[in-house]
Amino acid sequence: MYAVSSLLDTVGPAQWPVTFIRAHGARFTDDKGRGYWDFYGGHAVTLIGQGHPHWVGVLASQAGTLSFMTTMASIPVRDRAAEALCAFTEMDVAWFVNSGAEANEGALKMARKATGRSVIVAMENGFHGRTMGALGVTWKYREQHAPAHGNTRFVPFGDLEALEAILDADVAAVITEPVQGIAGIVEPPEGWLAAVKERCEANGSLLICDEVQSGVGRTGAPLAATAQGVKADIVTLGKGLGGGFPVSAVLMSRGVSETIGAGEHGTTFGGAPLACAAVEATLAVIAAEDLLSKANILGDRMFAELRMPGVLEVRGRGVWIALVLDRPAKPVANALLEAGFLVGTSTDPTVLRLSPPAVLPEHAISALAETLRTTLEAK
Ligand code: PLP
Repeated sequence: MYAVSSLLDTVGPAQWPVTFIRAHGARFTDDKGRGYWDFYGGHAVTLIGQGHPHWVGVLASQAGTLSFMTTMASIPVRDRAAEALCAFTEMDVAWFVNSGAEANEGALKMARKATGRSVIVAMENGFHGRTMGALGVTWKYREQHAPAHGNTRFVPFGDLEALEAILDADVAAVITEPVQGIAGIVEPPEGWLAAVKERCEANGSLLICDEVQSGVGRTGAPLAATAQGVKADIVTLGKGLGGGFPVSAVLMSRGVSETIGAGEHGTTFGGAPLACAAVEATLAVIAAEDLLSKANILGDRMFAELRMPGVLEVRGRGVWIALVLDRPAKPVANALLEAGFLVGTSTDPTVLRLSPPAVLPEHAISALAETLRTTLEAK
């Protein structure tokens, strides 16, 4: 760990006691030359793995050709990235921004504009980011910064009756993750999301699906909502979208896009050439290496190999799997780190969250299973 006093520490004692020097694919190397298998994916970011040669080549070439221009001028790479992303997700229009929270801020603003209403319905245990607007629809963390921003009504995730009870003519949008990520990869009851979409339509409200964590192939489908048979009015993406380059997007229906007038929304860095090149390269790698199928294969293998005494439940899809333990997850995560495996945790203290790159070799799962078994037996 670097002892840099000029850097604000927002992690505290939870920070891993390790300094990474390099990474390739799903393998990290620390400053002592030790190797680690990546089941963390940089918080569900690196679906295509680290340092993919195509991604590196495209970024280097873009940097040398046209390194920056705002949305004041058209640049071919931005048009190509939007077209590729809309084709991949089956959405109509894309707007590029810089982080998941910023994408959600934009989505909320657009939903209010499109409907002329101001109330947002959000889910208990949902997470949408740390900026003030996104925090206003986020269940946890918002009390730390009370009073919360915005006009939000919360309902339990997956509870249709509770939603129906508060869905009135003031509601601009319902925002939800199709599967709650930070809460511990929690899936809603079957058919719930489709019913929410139906109720929104009947009420003149929009459905915003926050796919910042679940999108861009992580579940083995382009979007987690598509896998549930639902097309939202607005979808937000981030994390895996740029293969590690900071970029996010608000995707919307043509109808929503037509309500947004010139000058109503803007960003300096959003849609910049390098970010758009990263999106285009990431989508190209997903297609060329059939990473959706690979994500599903790895997911099946994690389901098969990681069921063991001490693991009460395995849930999730693709390269996004939660292990519900019969004990606190953090000490187990620490032991796995010491043994050379990076894994994530969640706001549920008993859940280990696994979000490896889809380029992880399958034998790494067997290695994790063996170490996890030993760890769980020892404690
Ligand atoms: N939405 C979801 C579902 C997330 O999981 C996250 C981050 O973990 C965010 C939004 C916020 O994204 P960012 O940290 O890029 O602002």
